[in-house]
Amino acid sequence: MSALILVTGGTGLVGQAIKYVIETEPEGSRFGKKPGEKWIFASSSEGDLRDAEQTKKLFEKYKPTHVIHLAALVGGLFKNMKYKATFLRDNTLINDNVLHTSHLTGVTKLISCLSTCVYPDKVEYPLDETKIHLGLPHESNFGYAHAKRMVDIANHAYKDQFGSNFTSAIPTNVFGPHDNFDLEDAHVIPALLHKCYLSKKNGTPFIVGGTGKPLRQFIYSRDLAKLFIWQLREYDDVEPIIFSVGEDEEVSIKQVTDAIVKAMDFKGEYTFDTTKADGQFRKPASNKKLLSLIGDFQFTPFEKALDETVKWFLENYDTART
Ligand code: NDP
Repeated sequence: MSALILVTGGTGLVGQAIKYVIETEPEGSRFGKKPGEKWIFASSSEGDLRDAEQTKKLFEKYKPTHVIHLAALVGGLFKNMKYKATFLRDNTLINDNVLHTSHLTGVTKLISCLSTCVYPDKVEYPLDETKIHLGLPHESNFGYAHAKRMVDIANHAYKDQFGSNFTSAIPTNVFGPHDNFDLEDAHVIPALLHKCYLSKKNGTPFIVGGTGKPLRQFIYSRDLAKLFIWQLREYDDVEPIIFSVGEDEEVSIKQVTDAIVKAMDFKGEYTFDTTKADGQFRKPASNKKLLSLIGDFQFTPFEKALDETVKWFLENYDTART
């Protein structure tokens, strides 16, 4: 069977991980390329998805039968707080254009990407797939959060009105090769990794913000990639699925730092700047639904995934987003 799979946001952290998995897993295997499949990893230079005409042209060019929609304006806390209207508007436009063009051009399956950080601020933990809309998101990222939540609403609306096969995935914190390592705007792992690299190189102190105690669930981008490929082929339901390691696999920021220090072979001391805010202590998400569907999935051990990320960062420092 022939299929043209268009990955929007194909040049980013998650898109590049899907490309890696598709290109390195044995052909015909569960996560490898299947006969008749063609994969396209689109960047914003091929079409700005905030623009309806450019979105239409991209779809006319490739004629996708399947879409994994990852393109988004993504950023850390600071950027989310500063540019709320931009996060709301850009992501709303991108999502509306991709979903509606998929509908108009008869795409047979569309998976979009939400995030556990769009959940309500005040919610009973662990997070699960039923709690996305049960309260307001944290005020720091409400632009991004509301735009993302609307994808789930739209998926249901398109299914009810047109019978569309649209669904979504909800990853926890992602890390891996091709991440954004910009010191001002990166998520916690790439930011710490880059800081540690500079401390080692310049002999300067390595200072970690906060107490190191908060716990988080991290998913390796190449594991997440396999789950997207599985979802594309084997899951046909509008309801989203949380893509995460188990609640018993939370790691503390101190554990993350120790693993980075080890992987970087950093010999100096590091300290915690406890005057910096920690954020929430835990925000556990349940992966019960995921495991009920693909219970044999093997997550990469955290330290191995971090080693691979560090290796990639060191080899690609000159071209990485720093
Ligand atoms: P990246 O920032 O690494 O990549 C973003 C991608 O979106 C890039 O390929 C970029 O293209 C593309 N893009 C951005 N704006 C536009 C636009 N206007 N038109 C077309 N393409 C655009 O993001 P991630 O890979 O980290 O994120 C992928 C998805 O996963 C997103 O939907 C995000 O919300 C979600 N997510 C991410 C998490 C994380 O921890 N990173 C956690 C949970 C969910 P280009 O580079 O060519 O400009």
